[in-house]
Amino acid sequence: MLRHVYRPNSPAPAREMPHPGRFSQRASRAGGQPISELMHQALARPNLVSLAAGFVDQQSLPVEPVREAMAALLEEPLEARAALQYGTTLGFAPLRERVLAELLAADGQTVAETGLSADRLILTAGSNELLHLVTDTLCDPGDLVLCTAPTYFVYSGILKNLGVGSYGVASDAQGLIPEALDEALARLDRRQELSRVKALYIVSYFDNPRGVTLVGDRRAAVVEIVRRWSQQAGHVIYIIDDMAYRELRYAGPDLPSLRRYDEAGDTVITTHTFSKSLSPGLRVGYGLMPKPVLDAVCDQKGNINFGSPNFNQHLVAKLLDAGRWWPHVERLREAYRPKLAAMLAAAEEHLGPIEGVSWVQPEGGLYVWVELPSHCDAGPNGKLFDLALAEGVLYVPGEFCFPGEGTEVRANSMRLSFGVQPSERIHLGMAALARAIVKATD
Ligand code: PMP
Repeated sequence: MLRHVYRPNSPAPAREMPHPGRFSQRASRAGGQPISELMHQALARPNLVSLAAGFVDQQSLPVEPVREAMAALLEEPLEARAALQYGTTLGFAPLRERVLAELLAADGQTVAETGLSADRLILTAGSNELLHLVTDTLCDPGDLVLCTAPTYFVYSGILKNLGVGSYGVASDAQGLIPEALDEALARLDRRQELSRVKALYIVSYFDNPRGVTLVGDRRAAVVEIVRRWSQQAGHVIYIIDDMAYRELRYAGPDLPSLRRYDEAGDTVITTHTFSKSLSPGLRVGYGLMPKPVLDAVCDQKGNINFGSPNFNQHLVAKLLDAGRWWPHVERLREAYRPKLAAMLAAAEEHLGPIEGVSWVQPEGGLYVWVELPSHCDAGPNGKLFDLALAEGVLYVPGEFCFPGEGTEVRANSMRLSFGVQPSERIHLGMAALARAIVKATD
């Protein structure tokens, strides 16, 4: 007897699918990036002065240089077709060579004297992709990454997504404190947890969220401490040096990167991006790293997309070759310098008179970090956040930026960005913020 008869014109009654589907554990850890909710708040209230978004200044975006580079690229059919074809997983070789030369030149080196080649460099869709790839390559769920406290909260999201713990290391106005790093590693060793530690993540120039730069004499110390503990751990603990803001310097001399202190070249993974110094929409980021890490990262990436947008890499190469990048960086510095000055002046004027309020004075980047009296909760569920919204200003609560363990979460802090708003609105926003703080601390 036939038990199943296929009758195409009479579909079986629809049975509801179990909902939701059974997703991976990793997917369940992917959501909840706090910034999404903040963006929502900002979009819902167009009159709000958002000092929250870490976007770059809209007016500064390089329309003309990109138009010229695009025209030059499309003018040459052979090259245009090469750009419109798949590229390689590592990325467009001439751009990798160019970027390597720029990275080394910033550290006062040439390609010839270092013996490094572009096969140590990979191009990605922004540096966030690279941070994810590198972390996924180094870490299993349950591993640990040491992070400066506070740290870039999107990176904390990556760690959470991958099931990796974040362990905070104290920092001050001069960046990560070497003694605190040594002590954190010693503590983890005493707890027999050194085997879980795979990396130290640090934003070494004008960090996100504080605008703080790791000072010169701490750089060598950080590399030395991590290398020493690698010996003890029996595996390399890598330093992921995120240099996203290096070019956005408005005062003072540049500092050599952490890679300069890694003489054996086996510890520091440099990640960088054209997002801040050119255009985030182009999504061109890159990383220079020890060869075994690069090979493993490339294998991972090959499973995802066999390379980030080739066309954009050709475009950026054209723009660089035409000598259009550094003049643009200079223009950006001219555009952001007065905005930083406006935010610091407004802080002095409006926040200065409020007892217990202090802020960091950065020399670059896009952010100013403010600390409030210890009893003042600036978190999203605290009194101040709503009072600030009512006054018409949005900030990023500092508590989002603290690693899971190792250091305390300081809810009495906030990140302010001066990148997006014009100076007048920065002033308005800071005055509104001061009113809210006064009410919250009453
Ligand atoms: N690192 C830091 C510290 C950042 O602030 C950002 C962007 N906000 C990134 C990396 C990633 O930027 P992108 O993916 O655009 O290169």
